[in-house]
Amino acid sequence: MRQRSVNVDYNEIAKFEELAHRWWDPTSEFKPLHDINPLRLDYIEKHAGGLKDKRIVDVGCGGGILSESMAQKGAQVTGIDMGEAPLSVARLHQIETGIRIEYRRIPAEELAEEAAGTFDVVTCMEMLEHVPDPSSVIQACAKLVRPGGQVIFSTLNRNPKSFLFAIIGAEYVLNILPKGTHEFSKFIRPSELTEWARHAGLETLDLTGMTYNPFSRSYRLGQDIDVNYLLACQRPE
Ligand code: SAH
Repeated sequence: MRQRSVNVDYNEIAKFEELAHRWWDPTSEFKPLHDINPLRLDYIEKHAGGLKDKRIVDVGCGGGILSESMAQKGAQVTGIDMGEAPLSVARLHQIETGIRIEYRRIPAEELAEEAAGTFDVVTCMEMLEHVPDPSSVIQACAKLVRPGGQVIFSTLNRNPKSFLFAIIGAEYVLNILPKGTHEFSKFIRPSELTEWARHAGLETLDLTGMTYNPFSRSYRLGQDIDVNYLLACQRPE
């Protein structure tokens, strides 16, 4: 295996493999991904200037919740992941929906060698906090996007509040996520993410927070980037 292919934590992949069969159950462990999907889809659409006919690669696509919704907006989507079971679920689900997405088990770094600059938009959501070297994935995303195209990331911030909300709250109090879903030390501060993106040659367009209200059980986008957040970047022309 080439050196760059080792940027995968197979313990992390195993967590998703085990739960994959429930990926499309909106009441399952994946409920948060279903709940946030309309918000992030709007965000991506806005920063990409529409999704119709856009060539998009969804890095760490999992069971395809975001990939399918972008394809439904008319985008040509490639979904990549290193988990076999999530990809199988994604492939089966698209038959049900009648949508065509190309799903591949390939590391982002390897696809970037093969298909540099061929995507209008790259999305990489809720994935960087599961990877040994996130900066390498960010560099691959920057390489995959064409000049003038957008790269959209989302991840979890690292501070006492995000520890309280994303780990204690979500995994122990509200039981929204299985215990052990997230490892606090792997969370990424917005300053780190923007710096890695800048280092990869990307310009920051926007940083937006995503907050969860446990009483209304709903998410919304806003200025509070303390826990969940999205970063939109652009590769200069
Ligand atoms: N992006 C999807 C799924 C998020 S779950 C969404 O937001 O709906 C995180 C996904 O990242 C899982 O499917 C897991 O298999 C994948 N993943 C974790 N490490 C990875 C790696 N190194 N390379 C590719 N995918 C990875």
